[in-house]
Amino acid sequence: MSLIPFNDRDGFIWFNGNLVPWREAQIHVLSHGLHYASVVFEGQRAYNGEIFKLKEHTSRLFNSGRILDFEIPYSEDEINEAAKAVMKANNLPDGYCRPVAWRGPEMMGVAAQATKVHVAIAGWEWPSYFDPILRDKGIRLDVAEWHRPAPNCAPTASKAAGLYMICTLSKHAAERKGYNDALMLDYRGQVAEATGANVFFIKEGKIHTPKPDCFLDGITRRTVMGLAHKRGIEIIERAIQPEEMEGFEQCFLTGTAAEVTAVGEIGPYNFVVGDITKSLRSDYEQLVRGNG
Ligand code: PMP
Repeated sequence: MSLIPFNDRDGFIWFNGNLVPWREAQIHVLSHGLHYASVVFEGQRAYNGEIFKLKEHTSRLFNSGRILDFEIPYSEDEINEAAKAVMKANNLPDGYCRPVAWRGPEMMGVAAQATKVHVAIAGWEWPSYFDPILRDKGIRLDVAEWHRPAPNCAPTASKAAGLYMICTLSKHAAERKGYNDALMLDYRGQVAEATGANVFFIKEGKIHTPKPDCFLDGITRRTVMGLAHKRGIEIIERAIQPEEMEGFEQCFLTGTAAEVTAVGEIGPYNFVVGDITKSLRSDYEQLVRGNG
């Protein structure tokens, strides 16, 4: 991973309507978003000069803002064009794109009705979320101590920054123990997702995945379900108890950054990187590069 700090790079960032030199895209320390987590964001990837599922990501960004009771002061088309302009200005035909929207410094306190909503979009190179050496063995996940909250305890359908507090804590704890990431259970104790990706299991030729009723219904998740459907593979969305992992044969994660990542181990449970995982990984690679 690059050690160049993210505030000290060359390039351009779209900042409240204009492309500005990278180092000038700064905010005040008394921004509401920084203190009260009134922040939503997206993570999207460009392949061969096109941001994959850009419109879906932009719609989710706007919807995340509405869930946090704010309206992004641009049209979705303007944000789509801005994201494309960022990738072009930074010469990133293949790269990661990060839109973020937050409440500004006009009010400081829990109530924030009079704050302005600010938007920025940055892009950078981000080759592979997990070490490619693990492609054949699969990554290793710890089981996190933190649980995903209930939908009436947090705005779980939004991609809101505050929801990542427990993800960072879980990922740190897992990495300290030598794992690559952590699997999180939900408030009921059922399998939910990883800290930044959705989870799928395979048993006897069928795919099992938890219903996204308290965590992000990933755009990659839905895309990969479409690819599995095309291959005629049955997908069962249901509540999954952690003990069931004993009987699952394969496991993989999906996410914009993670793409389709094979999992070899979750705590005491082991999985093989089998044919269905490999086929869906390759279908996804083809699709995102426009060869689907
Ligand atoms: N869950 C979490 C917590 C995530 O951060 C992500 C990545 N955005 C996902 C799932 C997967 O979502 P997507 O496929 O839309 O990137």
